[in-house]
Amino acid sequence: MERWSRISLRSKITGVTVLMLTLGLLVSGIGTMAMLRQYVVQQVDSQLQIDAQSASNSYSAAALGQGTTAVVSSDYYVALYDEHGSLEDHTWRDVPRSELPILTAPLDLQTVMELDGKTMTLVDSAHDTEFLAVAVPLVISPQGTLGTLVMAVSLRPTENTMATYLTIFLGFGLGVVLVGALLTRLLVTTTFAPLREVERTAAAIADGDFSQRLGGATPNTEVGRLNRSLNTMLSRIDRLFKDRARTIDQMRRFVGDASHELRTPLVSVRGYAELYRMGALQAPEEIALAMERIEKEAIRMGGLVEDLLELARLDETKPLALAPVDLMPLARDAALDAMASSPGRTITVVTPIPAEIEDSTERPAIDLAHSTGEVPSAAAPGSKPDEPNQPAGGSVSFAGATLARLRTRKPRKADVTPPAPEQTPVTEPGTVQAVVMAEENKIRQIITNLMGNALRFSPTDSPVELEVAVDRRNQRASIAVIDHGEGIPPQIREKIFQRFWRADTSRARETGGSGLGLAIVASIVASHNGTVQVVDTPGGGATFRVWFPLACSPSAPQRVAPVITS
Ligand code: ADP
Repeated sequence: MERWSRISLRSKITGVTVLMLTLGLLVSGIGTMAMLRQYVVQQVDSQLQIDAQSASNSYSAAALGQGTTAVVSSDYYVALYDEHGSLEDHTWRDVPRSELPILTAPLDLQTVMELDGKTMTLVDSAHDTEFLAVAVPLVISPQGTLGTLVMAVSLRPTENTMATYLTIFLGFGLGVVLVGALLTRLLVTTTFAPLREVERTAAAIADGDFSQRLGGATPNTEVGRLNRSLNTMLSRIDRLFKDRARTIDQMRRFVGDASHELRTPLVSVRGYAELYRMGALQAPEEIALAMERIEKEAIRMGGLVEDLLELARLDETKPLALAPVDLMPLARDAALDAMASSPGRTITVVTPIPAEIEDSTERPAIDLAHSTGEVPSAAAPGSKPDEPNQPAGGSVSFAGATLARLRTRKPRKADVTPPAPEQTPVTEPGTVQAVVMAEENKIRQIITNLMGNALRFSPTDSPVELEVAVDRRNQRASIAVIDHGEGIPPQIREKIFQRFWRADTSRARETGGSGLGLAIVASIVASHNGTVQVVDTPGGGATFRVWFPLACSPSAPQRVAPVITS
């Protein structure tokens, strides 16, 4: 069995075909021979019967003087016996005795009568020739004495015909088997040629070359279908390997960057401690300065560790505690927080589509994703997009989160309801209902990070806008942080979302961010099936806009059913 399984498929198929062909030919050849021989012998037999009868009649007539002896074909051996079985006369006188048929028993008249003309099989004394023989009674004297006529015919011509037939048959049979084997081998070889290609490619893949793909075979053949499935599988494996390599690479870089980031503040803390121990810090002001530096570095490290933890948690992809969240109040809270921390700033919450709630069917939805936040001028009568303190897109109608103490900004002409002094940014007319399915804390985190960057990367007196919008057509809502600072060059917009990536600008250096803020934003946005985009603020600055599917949209993240444990 083991030896059988070691034989190649090609050899097996060829071998089995040849075997079947040979068996078939043998069976049909032997069968045909047996039938044919029987038929020919039967023919000879019946002819012998007829000829023996007519010879007996003509010999009897001649003996009675009623005619001449008939001439019998020399193919026949004819012998005449008297009534007691003694040989009287026979033909084939010039044939040696050993080649004549020998009677097995003496043929007296009684035995001949009992035989009743049945054919006997006789052999010669050398036992190499068979004869068919019949014995018939006949008259051997003019007195009417009866004797026996034995007529025999050799079966040698029949055997010779059979042997010739066998030779011809074997010759043809051998030819058929050889041609069959050759054709089978050829067919199997050409059919399996693509399989050998598969074999070669598989070997190359086994050696680690995952870029190899199978081709060549016609798609609707078995091998073609196999190739297609294998190629799909290979692409998937290749992608998985690449993903894994990328993840490992990212992880390695991440760990390296994180250690590097943590080492810098640690080195300076240790430096100050050493200075102090060595007595280099004497004056109280020097000590105070060192302490302040240590504190700052500790705060920086703390922030970094917080960010790292946050990212690690996000990477865990734990199910989110989803609930419908209105972006508007979050924007207002963020504005309040930012104003509290940066008292010199004008921070406003704006909505580009004022009548979103009441009139959403009549007003065409504005696809903010492709418009860099610009709102058609019809929706912003009188607004001047170039006005430096204008929010992105010259937003109109509503400026919600404006604290009284920041009322230094001029009321914009486009405001439908100019904010009243001491007004708190809660229920404003014209607010949009941007309800998304999200974990509220995470959304707050996004806004905090974006606001933090906007405040850090723009001049301290420039305004910042928080814009909330709803795009009904695409069933999504957005929150944007719009600053009027240095902006982000297009070539680095992709990079800023990478972990630890920081622009090497003087501001980035002096503010000492961890480079993780936007990575956290990207991670949270992805976990909420959202998207984030960075565009230029008209007039200069950066606009970060985050889109989430509306809570009613099918693409909104789904709440995971709580697991109840008893
Ligand atoms: P960091 O902690 O350094 O702020 P982030 O991931 O939040 O890290 O930001 C990465 C980089 O993106 C920053 O170093 C900065 O160069 C750039 N960036 C982010 N937000 C702004 C913005 N509002 N204006 C200009 N540049 C920005």
